[in-house]
Amino acid sequence: MSTSLKEYFAAEAEAIAGRCTACGACHAACPVAPFADPGGASSAELAGSVRCYLADATPLSAAAARWTESCNGCGDCIPACPEAVNPRQMLILALTQGARAKSETPQLFRRMSRAIKMMLAMQLEPEELRRLAAPRAARQAPVVFYTGCNALRTPHLLFNTMAVLDALAVDYEVVGGPSACCGVIHTKWQGEIETGGRVARNTLARFADFTPEKVLNWCPTCQLHLTESLANFHASSFDMNHVTEFLVARLEGLAGKFVRPIPRRVVLHAHTGYRNVGEAVARLLQAIPGLDLVETVYESGYTCGGSGCGRAPALQAKEHGHLLDRVAATGADALVTLYHGCHGAFAASEAGGRHQVLNFTDLLVEALGLEPYEDRNKHLRLAADLDMMIAEAQPYLRANGLDLSDAWLRQWLPEIMAQKEFKGGLDCFAAHPHVSAGEPA
Ligand code: SF4
Ligand code: SF4
Repeated sequence: MSTSLKEYFAAEAEAIAGRCTACGACHAACPVAPFADPGGASSAELAGSVRCYLADATPLSAAAARWTESCNGCGDCIPACPEAVNPRQMLILALTQGARAKSETPQLFRRMSRAIKMMLAMQLEPEELRRLAAPRAARQAPVVFYTGCNALRTPHLLFNTMAVLDALAVDYEVVGGPSACCGVIHTKWQGEIETGGRVARNTLARFADFTPEKVLNWCPTCQLHLTESLANFHASSFDMNHVTEFLVARLEGLAGKFVRPIPRRVVLHAHTGYRNVGEAVARLLQAIPGLDLVETVYESGYTCGGSGCGRAPALQAKEHGHLLDRVAATGADALVTLYHGCHGAFAASEAGGRHQVLNFTDLLVEALGLEPYEDRNKHLRLAADLDMMIAEAQPYLRANGLDLSDAWLRQWLPEIMAQKEFKGGLDCFAAHPHVSAGEPA
């Protein structure tokens, strides 16, 4: 019988608690720590509190709980540990146990998946929606492009990536949407570890249906969850890496297809939590003829968004401000984003009129001589007012079988667009044939 996720995490916690000496080096190296009010406790005391929590469920001190809940996943603590513990995993386990104990976020996944479907339905034609989110029949495919759930809010990034894979003549299938969640929401935030384990295993089985050699992740949260937090929970016959690493490994062939120079000066936004992804994107951009990558600005965390740098809002505000300052100071004409969460975080900064906000995939597709997929998400975000946003969204919603009143949209659109779960209107997707991205059992 395979190990349950609860048993797996218990074994991980025991092993980490056994190795950790509570030296505090991880806390001392943590950029979030000063923003999480240590309350006068030393680094050793705070790390010791987390260790004791994992060892025998001794309640976390208030300051240790603040640190745990503020962790943005940057990974700066990992090389700092002299005992080869992964402190990022240590804090994730503590947070997970806390979520399990408190279950403060019931229905989070359900609300989030409704918001994702809503955002898909207000940006895509039915056939586009099916191409991205409808389950595929099993077949042999060497590559699976795994979108995760939340990236579907910004579908143009995914279509762009698919256009690049098409240009490289990659034989792939797409897996994603709420019905193929990595399980992180149930596991980490909803306090339902066993459900999270089943969701992860179901999704891994979906990949295996294609007997792939490689699964290419788009979403950094799925990457962190499936390849680090759950590293030994599952046996896989395929590699799982971020899609940018796959593209960089084929850079020569890809660069040979770049036919359109892009005479732009750009600043790239990246994250320290997956520095390799930032470096991969920088290499991809540097291969585009005419493009001048004037600077890469790394921000703490592994992504923008509520599970990344949004965990430490004061640090996030400081670093977002720094990025926008660098874009202005360098005179760059575009801020280039990394992930969907980053794109959502910065898209509205284009309203200032001094720079454009583009995703690296927009530039790759343009360099290939193709038209980047229309960024309807940004278009909605830049709409002058709610009425304009509703007028933009309604034709797509109706085409997808969602007959929602303007009054309903006026009430809920701001919440849906805020890149969070939305709390209202849970029944509005009861029977809509085109909005088919289901939820995991
Ligand atoms: S991953 Fe980053 S934010 Fe989290 S504990 Fe480590 S250093 Fe701190
Ligand atoms: S996880 Fe490592 S760095 Fe952190 S307190 Fe334990 S031994 Fe020290």
